[in-house]
Amino acid sequence: MAFITHTFAGGPLNRASDKRPESDWLAGKLKAPGARALAMWNGSPLLKDGALVWLDGGFAKQLAARDEQLLFLGLDGDDAVFALDLEGDADPAAGPLEGRGAFGDLRAAAADLPISDTGMLSTARSLFEWRRRHQFCSVCGHASNAVDGGWKRICPNCAGQHFPRVDPCVIMLPVIGDKCLVGRQAAWVPGRFSALAGFVEPGESIEEACAREVKEEAGLTVVAVRYHSSQPWPYPSNLMLGMIAEVSDDKAEPDLNELEAVKWLTRAEARDLIEGKLDGFSGAPPLAIAHWLIRDWAYAD
Ligand SMILES: [Zn+2]
Repeated sequence: MAFITHTFAGGPLNRASDKRPESDWLAGKLKAPGARALAMWNGSPLLKDGALVWLDGGFAKQLAARDEQLLFLGLDGDDAVFALDLEGDADPAAGPLEGRGAFGDLRAAAADLPISDTGMLSTARSLFEWRRRHQFCSVCGHASNAVDGGWKRICPNCAGQHFPRVDPCVIMLPVIGDKCLVGRQAAWVPGRFSALAGFVEPGESIEEACAREVKEEAGLTVVAVRYHSSQPWPYPSNLMLGMIAEVSDDKAEPDLNELEAVKWLTRAEARDLIEGKLDGFSGAPPLAIAHWLIRDWAYAD
């Protein structure tokens, strides 16, 4: 398909959402010979020699203390693919999964994994974080139950239905003529500058959120917004909406709250930033949509 696919998207499976409510079908698929599951422990995937480790369906079911620790990710042909959510303080790689690999940081691993694996892992991580944070009904406070292969929770007390969150965020590169603006947050590694970002608020369009954030963080007025691409960001469930934001002038001022500094770059400087050649500065890594926003603008004619 003719669009950009970033890390944490690109999952290869047929999500088969119409089959999720069929619990007998799901149970049969889990028992079938081709069923497999990736494993996560507190948000970190099981890896061996830098590759994702797959467990067979029966073994994954054994390791799941509760059914809801198994998430139905989708179908690979006829074979069902699941994700197993392991909990607790004891490292399962030193217990029931000994010899199968080690749990590693998702973000570090994602830089080297095939993008299709990162898509499945981001789905699993976001869903598992949602599961952990939404054990109780937000309407009445009663404990809720997972249904639909882990994609929905129902409250047995008030019948409230609860669905996984996706939280939209705008991430944008303000530009004027042949200059773009990057900013830095105080918490970042020294020298790191990147695109500006913020959550979309209720009652706000993507364009309005983009304009508001650029005004709040850098004091600039947005006059035009162009959509670039989007990226799921599973920390825990953001959807980054990448935009190029044309601004009316270059009198930028950091708000000193979210941003401690802003900096205008020429296209040549932006290219150097993204290639790691701008002395004393570093940009976002290729894993992040910000890298591609800046790169594509910097190399455009
Ligand atoms: Zn309820």
